Amino acid sequence: MKKIPFFDLKTVNAELGEEIRNAAERALGSGWYILGQELRNFEENFSGSLFGEAEGYTVGCNSGTDALIIALRAAGVGHGDEVIAPSFTAIPTISAICASGARPVFAEIDAKTWVIDVARISALISENTKAIIAVHLYGNMADVVSLSAMLTQLGKTHISIIEDVAQAQGALLQGRQAGTMGRFGAFSFYPTKNIGALGDGGAISCRTKTELESLRMLRNYGQKDRYNAVAYGGINSRLDEIQAAILDVKLKYLEEWNSRKSKMMEIYRRELAGLPLSFQQVTARCVPAWHLCVVALEDESARNQLKEFLLGNNVETLIHYPIPTHKQAAFPSGDERLPVTENLADRILSLPFNPALQAAEQEYIIRTIHDFYKSKR
Ligand SMILES: *Cc1c(COP(=O)(O)O)cnc(C)c1O
Repeated sequence: MKKIPFFDLKTVNAELGEEIRNAAERALGSGWYILGQELRNFEENFSGSLFGEAEGYTVGCNSGTDALIIALRAAGVGHGDEVIAPSFTAIPTISAICASGARPVFAEIDAKTWVIDVARISALISENTKAIIAVHLYGNMADVVSLSAMLTQLGKTHISIIEDVAQAQGALLQGRQAGTMGRFGAFSFYPTKNIGALGDGGAISCRTKTELESLRMLRNYGQKDRYNAVAYGGINSRLDEIQAAILDVKLKYLEEWNSRKSKMMEIYRRELAGLPLSFQQVTARCVPAWHLCVVALEDESARNQLKEFLLGNNVETLIHYPIPTHKQAAFPSGDERLPVTENLADRILSLPFNPALQAAEQEYIIRTIHDFYKSKR
């Protein structure tokens, strides 16, 4: 078997090559490269795909990190505030909190679903808590319904829920789209995400016209209209026309790609069942939109051995993520002890998983994992 890369972006994008080229050329020929018709089209189609007939809006921006920063600012988060987020997430979730001026407060995850453990959040809430970022990790959703019910019960509805949807575009919880249930949703179009730009891109979702206006100002210097700055903390973070045109093409394929990956995930789960490794348990009443296929082994040494064995057999794997964010040098952390997070980070391994992965390649990966366990008997 020739080398199986972790992710094959070239093949994924080649599938839509012609449509992508047409879209990019249309944008090129328009003579208008930011905040134009392509972005308006994409935002309208994206909002429709998320909210259907219900009220709801989306605002394109430069990246998923910016989407989080803009959402935090729009939620009024700034210096002296605290934002609760799971430590077990991609680094940018926490970078965004720090960029907003707030202090991250690291939450524990549930040992089975690997997303924020709602039952343990209340102990982290203080006078200064302004927002909670619910990260939908690997495509599985954090239980934002229970989270929201808990805030209501505690009388803390002034705390905003921001969904980090970067890894779960198209997932559903109780029939509702990820990114439509919190006050804001933050999306990433990083090239490997559920739909990827040919470069950077992101978007923020919201549910009211007032919030829409505030998001639009914040992504464009804080300007309400030309030369009239109204919103404090505005930045330059616009989704440019070429990327918007390309993303509008890809949006049409989101469901198909998600469903292809969901079948691929079923095969991994079925064919690896019975081996001493486990998968992320799906949150109750959630239909995930898988972004990564992550398995957890017995311990760090088993994980490292399997990783090496696969590499030796031409299969590239990655670890998302080897060091939990509360252990990262960049972030202010105290004496948090997050045993579930720390233990899981030592045992996880991400298998090749993308719409371009061929059935024969997946079969080979599965067979190689079985061979690994046979070699240990
Ligand atoms: C990718 C990602 C981001 C950041 O997105 P960028 O577009 O790379 O800035 C934020 N949160 C999570 C969970 C991510 O996976």
